[in-house]
Amino acid sequence: SRKRQFSDEELKDLLISGNKTALGRGITLVESNQSSHQQRAEKLIESCLPYAHKSIRIGITGVPGVGKSTFIEAFGSLLVKLGKKVAVLAVDPSSSVSHGSIMGDKTRMENLVTEENAFIRPSPSGDSLGGVARKTRESIILCEAAGFDVILIETVGVGQSETTVHSMTDFFLLLKLAGAGDELQGIKRGIIEMADAIVINKADGDNLKAAREARLEFNRALHLYPPKASTWQPKVSLCSALDNTGISEVWEMINEYKKLTKKNEFFEKNRHEQNKFWLLQTINEHLKQRFYQDPQIKKALKDQLTAIENNETTPFAAAKLLLNLHNEL
Ligand code: GDP
Repeated sequence: SRKRQFSDEELKDLLISGNKTALGRGITLVESNQSSHQQRAEKLIESCLPYAHKSIRIGITGVPGVGKSTFIEAFGSLLVKLGKKVAVLAVDPSSSVSHGSIMGDKTRMENLVTEENAFIRPSPSGDSLGGVARKTRESIILCEAAGFDVILIETVGVGQSETTVHSMTDFFLLLKLAGAGDELQGIKRGIIEMADAIVINKADGDNLKAAREARLEFNRALHLYPPKASTWQPKVSLCSALDNTGISEVWEMINEYKKLTKKNEFFEKNRHEQNKFWLLQTINEHLKQRFYQDPQIKKALKDQLTAIENNETTPFAAAKLLLNLHNEL
């Protein structure tokens, strides 16, 4: 069946009224690399900004197999039952290569997708983490304008993707397994430091004892880190996404965090800091794109790379030449 076309005005109105089809179309515009789409997306975001009401943005990370999608299914379903509108987005810079290492297949979160008050969107594909991140940031705003008040942003630990998700969320949740060392779980040290909560999943059956031991260990480890600017003391909890235990405790914890950081004003301050960071990121991305996509620069860059190989120039002289060329364009 042919897709109904919306005018930009209609799209905006429908999106703000909470229409999920319109939200999906809006995100498609945001994700497009076509410049006419990008212009429309920019206008849409601008007109949506005043409607992007209060939300909580929660980052969720953990290695493949830890149970992210099972957890989001259970957690999202609980939130929907509590009357929340839940959007699930993903940041996976590898998805353009591997065709979706997260949220690729439709069987994930099969109950949550059927909920009227849930919206699930796989990771945008993009050639760089910067590109994927920009698209996700903008999609968050559209989701919020459509009335979604809990935004879950899932990521796997590819490159800097955790840091990127941390820089666009209010609360950062690390899912872990008991009994496997950090090396085994592929967790970088810095990730623990970013976490507001470590949730040990699969705390069920024969795993339960090991999970309790792991909780003690992580609690001890967390105390070795310096206090957070939020003054929040990161917590460790257990859950079984499969058995649906320990899930509401996570939500209670997040509410506690929200209460604390709203009161001490860290919540707002942190969002302002994030916005400043993203202003600079956006400029960087834009400048880089303009530079590297210019046909004259492309050609000159190729020549200079050859010249370096032939020992005919130095990296510094070559860079200077290219930057000067760019200034003249
Ligand atoms: P992801 O790769 O992090 O998204 O992990 P999945 O959610 O796809 O889960 C990986 C596997 O672990 C699946 O076979 C799940 O059924 C299983 N799993 C997820 N959560 C739990 C849990 O709480 N307990 C147990 N026993 N298995 C789980």
